[in-house]
Amino acid sequence: MSAPTSAGPAGAGSTGAGPTGTGPTGTGPTGVWADVVGQEAAVAQFRRAASPEGSLAQAWLITGPPGSGRSTAARAFAATLQCETGEGCGHCHACRTVLAGTHPDVTAVATDKLSISKEEVRSLVLTAQRSPATGAHRVIIIEDADRMSAGTFNVLLKSIEEPPPHTVWMLCAPSAEDLAPTIRSRCRVVTLAIPRPSDVAELLVRRDGADPDLAERAALAAQGHIGLALRYATQPGALEAREESARTLLGLRSSGQAVLAAGTLVERANAEAAATADDVAAKEKERFLRSAGIEDGKVPPSLRSQMRQLEDDAKRRRTRLVRDVLDRYLLDAHSVLRDVLVLQLDTGAELVNPGVREEIVHAAEGGDPQVTLALLDAVQRARTRIAGNVPPLLATEALLARIAVRAG
Ligand SMILES: [Zn+2]
Repeated sequence: MSAPTSAGPAGAGSTGAGPTGTGPTGTGPTGVWADVVGQEAAVAQFRRAASPEGSLAQAWLITGPPGSGRSTAARAFAATLQCETGEGCGHCHACRTVLAGTHPDVTAVATDKLSISKEEVRSLVLTAQRSPATGAHRVIIIEDADRMSAGTFNVLLKSIEEPPPHTVWMLCAPSAEDLAPTIRSRCRVVTLAIPRPSDVAELLVRRDGADPDLAERAALAAQGHIGLALRYATQPGALEAREESARTLLGLRSSGQAVLAAGTLVERANAEAAATADDVAAKEKERFLRSAGIEDGKVPPSLRSQMRQLEDDAKRRRTRLVRDVLDRYLLDAHSVLRDVLVLQLDTGAELVNPGVREEIVHAAEGGDPQVTLALLDAVQRARTRIAGNVPPLLATEALLARIAVRAG
């Protein structure tokens, strides 16, 4: 049996895409592709390109909404290119090491910082120049290619324009528009779909051993975001907390309540972000001290600026994370109002939040679909404001106050 499921690179977000070992249970893709769920068209495209008859482009851009499995797809593609059978069998040494993040010819970078630095990209460009050590290709995966500045794109451009013969670049981003046109135009673009809840639920049961009932609720609530679904299905209380927030949202009746609720929400986002960010920051610091051979924690003057850079990075990462977490909460709120609208318009669509059906029914009966529509708009506006630089608490308070008085 294939046991090694190393955590992969730090900050990758999920529990790491482990080798699929036992193979498929359904009729879907097999081998390294088994965990790329609900992406039949994209998988066929990758497989064709990797086959001896296919034409392998040297720069790929994999796009798709957050949580749709961009980096999982990139790794599966990389594994297929290195696979000893050429199929992405999932069992050979090459397949297993690529998926575990330890293959010498596959480099993957993920960032949870606000941006990928020029220096990081320069070092990738250097790596791209080297011939593969054991495999047929040298593969470089950039998981958050949208987090590059225009200047950084330029560093990358040369290598993407004229890559060495064995090198394959794989860039991942939410959409093609997130990349500089000069880069985009040189990549073959593959667009992932939002995976169906049933596919996500099946994955959680098969790969992560989740309870089927819970997996189904989690997949529905996560609306196609695989990482989030996994969280709901495996982290005790995560789904309940979400349903509790939905109840609070629907129960708001005054601006006073709204202000309180906004405070709680932002506090929770801060706590959730801190739990992740502080852990990463501590590990980074430890690694830095160790690599500099410092044992007593006293950083010599020559290394202080590097240390400060590390701390600044950590701070930026945390800021970003708070906004990301809060954005997720607002998406949750959006899904609750969307459920209300579904009932008001009697569209027959499935509820995203079946756990709070009673409250949603109640809100739908007492409300006007026009107002619900306006509130849905207000949520999107709040998300935009927070992504811009409006203080999160201010934007959240304003939004919840409108929802409380049903003034779209
Ligand atoms: Zn293989």
